[in-house]
Amino acid sequence: MRHAEFDAIIIGAGFSGIYMLERCRALGFSARVIEAGTGPGGTWYWNRYPGLRCDVESMTYSYSFSDDIQREWTWSERYATQAEILRYVNYVVDKLDSRRDMQFETCVTGAIFDEAEDRWKIETDRGEHYIAKYCIMATGCLSVMDPPRFKGLERFKGQWYHTAAWPKEGVDFTGKRVGVIGTGSSGIQSVPVIAEQAAHLTVFQRTANYSIPAWNRPLDEDSVRRWKAGYPALRKKAQVSPVGADFDPPDKSTFEVSAEERRRRLEEMWQRGSFGFLSAFTDLLTNQAASDLVGAFVEEKIRAVVKDPKVADLLCPKNLPIGTKRLCVDTHYYETFNRDNVSLVDIKAAPIEEITPAGLIAGGVEYALDAIVFATGYDAMTGALFRINPRGRGGMTLKEKWASGPRTYLGVAVAGFPNLFTITGPGSPSVISNMLVSIEQHVDWIADCIAHLRAHDLDLIEPTVEAEDKWTSHVNEVAEGTLFLKSDTWYLGANIPGKPRVCFPYLGGVGTYKKICDEITAKDYEGFALSRAEARAAARVG
Ligand code: FAD
Ligand code: NAP
Repeated sequence: MRHAEFDAIIIGAGFSGIYMLERCRALGFSARVIEAGTGPGGTWYWNRYPGLRCDVESMTYSYSFSDDIQREWTWSERYATQAEILRYVNYVVDKLDSRRDMQFETCVTGAIFDEAEDRWKIETDRGEHYIAKYCIMATGCLSVMDPPRFKGLERFKGQWYHTAAWPKEGVDFTGKRVGVIGTGSSGIQSVPVIAEQAAHLTVFQRTANYSIPAWNRPLDEDSVRRWKAGYPALRKKAQVSPVGADFDPPDKSTFEVSAEERRRRLEEMWQRGSFGFLSAFTDLLTNQAASDLVGAFVEEKIRAVVKDPKVADLLCPKNLPIGTKRLCVDTHYYETFNRDNVSLVDIKAAPIEEITPAGLIAGGVEYALDAIVFATGYDAMTGALFRINPRGRGGMTLKEKWASGPRTYLGVAVAGFPNLFTITGPGSPSVISNMLVSIEQHVDWIADCIAHLRAHDLDLIEPTVEAEDKWTSHVNEVAEGTLFLKSDTWYLGANIPGKPRVCFPYLGGVGTYKKICDEITAKDYEGFALSRAEARAAARVG
């Protein structure tokens, strides 16, 4: 059993944990990162399914904090593959010499706030006990897979995989009859690549999703040079933009322009590709009529590609306001359904009944399969936090506190859990953005906050219940003004049985959110209680 004391224990070695460690070290805080995987990378370490790329252009889906890093590293494609992103992560970690403060293959199993000592006591599955002033959750919003819950899976004679826990050595589907269940971002990215290998691919779709072409391409020297030269402006623009990217925010609503102008604008955004498509008009996520119109435009595109009208019809989303589920970004997804070796099965009309030794049965029909890929998603936003289930003041656990949905202040701190921070936690823009921008903003905020505490001889910070209540109401009110609440998505916890239905991310936009955080900091951390050990001791004695 080891007892080691640090200023900060950082849980997770994805983009969040790596940068958090760097900021802590630069400020002279002792810190250790604890990570379950055998290496850094988080999302990009665990997810290795074929076709995985970022859905934000690589030049913006990258760290901005180090000028050296952004000058030295050169992306080869507009949307980097998982392998290239993982190489980038390892390059960053080597450059920063982060590994000496990282502990891999270790799972944090518990964290308890010791009120007598004002310290976090953190336990791992190796029987270690750490003591830390600050407990920083860099545990990821999409790091806990939703395991397949299908009757009969244990009897399946073939191989099965979940996109979130893909074998490191890869999978060869050559000559196999493969089934993919799920058509979210993971399914939509993997289907075209698996189809090229498999003897036959059956895609089991419950809900059709909107997908926009990535128009991926290699990055030539010239464009890389231009991007790099423009980095200072680009990074600033992303930080104040609605989704943390360099898209120009829209300035007109859908019905403010003529039908011709609307069509021209949508076509232009379609040709740019990626989820920037949602920046076509100001009201796409708030006005049902606008959403219908833009949805119809995408539907037209789907029908123009997919030759079989019945298949095209199935692939067109129904009752799903565009963008209220993460807009997928694909390479030849719809084209894949024109292949002779690919078929689409509607499991909304005829749900999967069971997995059999030889395949699966849906709607009374047995589909023979050699391999099944579950692209069925995650227990998002709270999954990883609940696995640790930190215990705060009075022994209250986070699960108890959040039984009816997360309550946070700014998505970064929780009343009753002093000195605990959640990077991109529920109630912050996180998953609605280019996450690298949101991660850097949160890490900077936390690092500046603990530096402030030290500079002012303070050692405890915790939101007030009033500030937390007000923020939680604000998060809900903003969501109510949008179309997001109309869709059954993981943003609302709808994919996990028993999860409370609330909007987990903050939908007010990255730039707006950053402004709020900066104002709160400028007002001496308004809404937080900051205190000093001696003052607390005196108060206890008094
Ligand atoms: P993660 O990368 O999830 O890392 C968290 C780490 O914490 C993991 O390594 C995990 O093992 C570790 N951990 C968790 N709990 C414990 C514990 N108890 N003990 C020890 N270790 C623990 N975002 C975008 O903006 N653009 C994209 O293109 C994009 N693509 C994505 C593709 C996929 C397949 C997925 C799943 C997500 C994608 N995201 C994307 C979101 C992505 O998660 C973030 O962009 C980013 O990588 C998150 O970094 P993170 O460090 O916060 O979390
Ligand atoms: P997801 O968006 O939650 O999609 C899961 C899919 O599986 C949905 O189609 C869902 O159908 C289906 N499904 C789940 N349980 C099912 C069941 N029991 N029976 C039948 N179908 C079932 O998960 P994801 O695709 O892994 O993506 C999660 C998030 O990760 C994305 O939204 C995105 O933020 C991120 N991501 C990004 C990229 C990228 O492009 N870079 C790639 C992958 C993931 P229903 O919709 O009907 O529930």
